[in-house]
Amino acid sequence: MESLLPLLKQYFGYDSFRPLQGEIIREVVNGNDVLALMPTGGGKSVCYQLPALYLDGTAIVVSPLIALMKDQVESLKANGVPAAALNSSLSEKDRTAIRHHSMMGHLKLLYMSPEGIQAELDGLLACMKISLIAIDEAHCISKWGHDFRPEYSQLSVLKDRFPAIPVIALTATADKLTRQDVVEQLRLASPQVFTASFDRPNISLGVLRGYGRKEKLAYMLTIIRSLPGESGIIYCTKRADTESVACELRAAGINAAAYHAGMPAIERSRTQEDFINDRIDLICATVAFGMGIDKSNVRFVIHYNMPGSIENYYQEIGRAGRDGLRSHTLMFYSPADYIMLKKFAEESGQSQINLDKLGLMQRYCESDICRRRILLNYFGEEREQNCSNCDACQNSPRRFDGTVLVQKALSAVMRTEEQVGIRMLIDILRGTVRNDITAAGYHLIKTYGAGRDLPFKTWKEYVYQMIQLGYLEIDYQNESTLKITPAGRRVLQGESQALLATLREFLPPSESAKDRRMNFAAQRAKATEASDASLVGALRALRRTIAQDTDVAPYIIFTDASLQDMAIRKPTSLDEFTAVRGVGDIKLRKYGPAFVREIRKYLGLP
Ligand code: ADP
Ligand code: ZN
Repeated sequence: MESLLPLLKQYFGYDSFRPLQGEIIREVVNGNDVLALMPTGGGKSVCYQLPALYLDGTAIVVSPLIALMKDQVESLKANGVPAAALNSSLSEKDRTAIRHHSMMGHLKLLYMSPEGIQAELDGLLACMKISLIAIDEAHCISKWGHDFRPEYSQLSVLKDRFPAIPVIALTATADKLTRQDVVEQLRLASPQVFTASFDRPNISLGVLRGYGRKEKLAYMLTIIRSLPGESGIIYCTKRADTESVACELRAAGINAAAYHAGMPAIERSRTQEDFINDRIDLICATVAFGMGIDKSNVRFVIHYNMPGSIENYYQEIGRAGRDGLRSHTLMFYSPADYIMLKKFAEESGQSQINLDKLGLMQRYCESDICRRRILLNYFGEEREQNCSNCDACQNSPRRFDGTVLVQKALSAVMRTEEQVGIRMLIDILRGTVRNDITAAGYHLIKTYGAGRDLPFKTWKEYVYQMIQLGYLEIDYQNESTLKITPAGRRVLQGESQALLATLREFLPPSESAKDRRMNFAAQRAKATEASDASLVGALRALRRTIAQDTDVAPYIIFTDASLQDMAIRKPTSLDEFTAVRGVGDIKLRKYGPAFVREIRKYLGLP
């Protein structure tokens, strides 16, 4: 083990292991099978890359997507590790060359698709000295997971064929069924299972209810403008929305583009490349986007609509802040989203499971308690403490006696015989003139206009609270009309008091994050943001120039975390530069001089 840490510094530029990395690596180099469950950004790659460097022979890495392989191989090469990906995107000539290098033992890592494994089982793989087998995104083997890939099912042959070679399966999906399934299907030999905490303390969490198109746009613009030049993803359920939102953002001067599976492949891959290379700041995408992207400096993820399950949601927000720096997430949620997803779920093959998952997602959105606690509880990690980095924590609501408000609303629901939805209810309360209200005679009821004093939006928030508190429920079977619950009846009859939460305004990330407890990396990042934003800017510009000249992605040269660390340490010599996070031997030699020069220039040194 002693010799592993120097390898970590030499090749990856890190001084210490992240939680569980050391333990996992020890098992693998001792020849044991391992299942590693770590959140996105937890540092899974090092868990097999370091053993690959340590052990004799070549590690085979199974990965589901070509983009993912390409990214990993480029990163490894930038650190001086001989690696390649053998896949269908290559010319026959390149494939031959890679086969040759593999057989000669020139490579430390060889990335392959599951189909490739199948095809090469008796050919290439039989002639190589294999050090270990890593199965990335291992949940793809399980039908229980959210991303089942039939071609992964074939991977069980690996253990039969190479019983003595350690297999390490890695995934960011932690639910129990999937976990067991992965172990069984891969036929792992009494594997050690390592589960890292799924907490991502550097990512802030927020949910906004009931925003319309215009309000969403305005809100997103506030966020985007508070993070100028930073990368972000906006997830939309509908393809058409990805295009219209991108269009609206562009009209507002934001450098945004759309991405969905219906676009021509060329355009899609160009958009993805532009995003990876920091040429486009913002992508409005369906969930088709992101799976193959390891970009570490995504600073915010916005859900334009509610996702269908907490697993999906967590994976999607997990694409923010892989580098450990402070990042933001926000979800817009409306009943319309729920209704659409419910239809999808019902039409799916596993409708009950999917409906249950959707129900939990909805409850998350409507909750007023610490969101991180809900998420971590969902993944089986019990949390006693509030996180102080979510909207619920930051605005823990003050309660007031809202009995009269609730009575007004419920009385209107009763007098309209539970035939109205949220919007019409509020219009009745506010005495709005609407043809359908008059036609139904609702303008004649006693509560018509009884809530004139409050704006529409405020009423909407309160009505949602009444739903959350269980006074009203939405009858999804019946055009989403509102029904009074037994608890609601008790308030209406004056038998119990209703405590409502004072309305909270969700603050844009720049303001809301003040004085919050943040993880170490985030605090340091904040320190630099405050003092040396212009140095970080200069380093970033240098990174971009080098990226353009050498045709590699900026974050492969250095992550944002490395740039931040440089701006804190301000190394003025190559010797000092070695200490920067993420600087290994190769990057020191290759990029050290230029970055040190830039820092000296900033400090006014010759
Ligand atoms: P995952 O595959 O689990 O999503 P990655 O392997 O891409 O995560 O790692 C996420 C980020 O953390 C990368 O930028 C990586 O370089 C960095 N990282 C990994 N291990 C360490 C470590 N021991 N110390 C500091 N940073 C690390
Ligand atoms: Zn919280």
